[in-house]
Amino acid sequence: MAEMIDLRSDTVTRPTAEMREAMAAAIVGDDVYREDPTINRLEERAAEIMGKEAGLFVPTGVMGNTIGIKIHTEHGQEVICDSRGHILNYELSMMAWFAGCVARAIPTQDGLLDWARVKAEIRPLGPHAAPTGLIEVENSHNVGGGTVYPQSQLDEICDGAHSMGLPVHMDGARLFNAAAAAKRGVAEITAKVDTVMFCLSKGLGAPVGSMLVGPQALIDKGRLYRKRLGGGMRQAGILAAAGLIALEKMPARLEEDHANARMIANRISTLPGITLDASKIATNILIFDVAGTPWSAAEFCERMAVHGVLMIPFGPTLVRIVTHYDAPKAACEIAIEKIEEMLKQS
Ligand SMILES: *Cc1c(COP(=O)(O)O)cnc(C)c1O
Repeated sequence: MAEMIDLRSDTVTRPTAEMREAMAAAIVGDDVYREDPTINRLEERAAEIMGKEAGLFVPTGVMGNTIGIKIHTEHGQEVICDSRGHILNYELSMMAWFAGCVARAIPTQDGLLDWARVKAEIRPLGPHAAPTGLIEVENSHNVGGGTVYPQSQLDEICDGAHSMGLPVHMDGARLFNAAAAAKRGVAEITAKVDTVMFCLSKGLGAPVGSMLVGPQALIDKGRLYRKRLGGGMRQAGILAAAGLIALEKMPARLEEDHANARMIANRISTLPGITLDASKIATNILIFDVAGTPWSAAEFCERMAVHGVLMIPFGPTLVRIVTHYDAPKAACEIAIEKIEEMLKQS
């Protein structure tokens, strides 16, 4: 059987040949003793590229967000985020489990918060409400459809939060996608954000790993929480070697994935039964509605799998496609043809 075209997520990307070679050749040491030169280099470069003081390698994005929330907050506080945010919906309530915080979720159209809405939800210390400890933003926004913060909107949230003594953490799992779409450097985007988590393992292609960057004192604290969570790894330079290539080389090609996402969106938005605003595709994620077809999202995806294309249901009638380098333009063109073929059978 021919290999599946896997558009479920950019997490499915496999390490490049160059990454595998670098992994084999990596100079390593015990990272719990801070003696792994490749990890040290990755942490320094990540901080430098993000314009922050320090970086921490973590095995997963969830661990990066978990630590990011913990270092800013105390038990019994609220974390303001949008209602469809990853930290609230896809992290097994880690902010409650580890940091002892509850989410104050703000419903949005596209996953993006604005200062007026955030400000209205900030609670001061008092006899009834839990005080706000942190503002969290997700950029690009996954469930919002790969949406990207307008820079002024993000800066205004940060300025406002800081004026009230509150920190801002960014879930930048796909921050480099946001940067490619906004045609801005990542450091420019995150200049006013206190801490940032970003994934090396998604569109950047590393097999494992995410980074948490921010002020030195907070990252030092975060390193201890990483150990508590079981994330103190030893010869992790094997992973950092791939991570360095992900960080240095892979961002430059993300626009290809975005072009493929736009191509798919433009073509399938004209098909009967599919609802999608192709003009809204900003990055490598597209979410479309199949309510006009005879199938639910799950049935749609099952049928597409039979045609050799994988995508995931994202609601009763919503389907998500994520483009990435392991599904190049030719594969995306085949995926479009398969969707067209399948709809003709309806
Ligand atoms: C993937 C993702 C994460 C982290 O996920 P891991 O699988 O733990 O690496 C965090 N936030 C968003 C928005 C994501 O898409």
